[in-house]
Amino acid sequence: MPSFTHPLSSRLPQVGTTIFSVMSALAQEHGALNLSQGFPDFEPPAELLNLLDQAARGGHNQYAPMAGMPVLREAIAAKVAQLYGAQYDVAHEVTVTAGATQALFTAIAALVHPGDEVIVFTPVYDSYAPSVELQGGKVIYADLAPPGYRPDWAAVKALVTSRTRMIVINSPHNPTGTVWTADDMRALADIVRGTGIVVLSDEVYEHMVFDGARHESVMRHPELAQRSVVVSSFGKTYHATGWKVAYALAPRELMAEFRKAHQFIVFTVHAPSQVALAEFLKRPGWYEQLLALYQGKRDIFRQALSGSRFELLPCQGTYFQCVKYAAISDEGDRAFVERLTREHGVAAIPVSAFYPDARDHGVIRFCFAKSADTLSRALERLVQL
Ligand code: PMP
Ligand code: GLN
Repeated sequence: MPSFTHPLSSRLPQVGTTIFSVMSALAQEHGALNLSQGFPDFEPPAELLNLLDQAARGGHNQYAPMAGMPVLREAIAAKVAQLYGAQYDVAHEVTVTAGATQALFTAIAALVHPGDEVIVFTPVYDSYAPSVELQGGKVIYADLAPPGYRPDWAAVKALVTSRTRMIVINSPHNPTGTVWTADDMRALADIVRGTGIVVLSDEVYEHMVFDGARHESVMRHPELAQRSVVVSSFGKTYHATGWKVAYALAPRELMAEFRKAHQFIVFTVHAPSQVALAEFLKRPGWYEQLLALYQGKRDIFRQALSGSRFELLPCQGTYFQCVKYAAISDEGDRAFVERLTREHGVAAIPVSAFYPDARDHGVIRFCFAKSADTLSRALERLVQL
């Protein structure tokens, strides 16, 4: 292809390829065990695959309605009513999206005007800031300081101005595995009360909250729910990240704006997987089973590394475990994970990738959503370092 010769001014000058793609490619290149990008290396339940097959063969192959298949929207509304006591109107307040990434992008595109300020918490999931910047919004960073990564609510309050349009929250939190408490949600409610601030709540790890703690969805807090767009993803919950099916919930006024953008960003989402998921969501016991699976994997992972030179940070939720490696190396986190991948055959994510200034606390993230075999081979290598 001949070159594009006109001067090109980038809308995202600071952005390269996401660290998840970079590290997965490096893992593949070196045949390393891939504990970097967050996805299971095992299959969705066979019954769900059968339902997908049936849906595709059963005539569900044309455009779904713009907001999503009614059966799936009904199943989502029933789920959140049962789990969180939240009532969302199926016709106007539930929308099926092409992954949580699209739901987050769409919420931001629909609600953030040029010059609006959006508060996010660092370390921050990599899609939030570019999504805000593409709308001409200004990203304001609140720090979750290591090693506890707890929010400092007085500091957050000091960041709020008359231009603050949105606060993006994420509990359980990627990458740190921390979980916010009911007190955190009350502190957030105190800050936004009486303002026009919208809360965008990324709850994709809602079913991975360990040790008997409870997921503090904004949906449990009516005062917050009434100003929130909630996002969750079937990719995490059903071991099907490649399906890219997720959803957003919001009060009618917010969802009306969301849908105006949604219809031109994706219009509608893969129909047969919506039909299959709607049926599978009725199966009892899945969330308990999922929690037991990941809590078990977390425990195996931590147990094995507790005898190593890695220092384990707390893991209260998600399928990520962060560690410090100061006793092993004084390299920067990027250099360390690259060498870990190349020389020791285990890939991880440098947590500096979750900071706009690549701040390096010497912390890396492992994903333990992997088969028993992958985990035991990886742990065998890691404990020797
Ligand atoms: N938010 C967070 C915090 C995530 O970790 C991820 C995916 N790992 C997403 C959003 C995106 O989810 P999806 O794959 O459904 O787009
Ligand atoms: N969210 C996943 C992670 O944190 C990866 C998703 C992606 O690759 N965009 O690893």
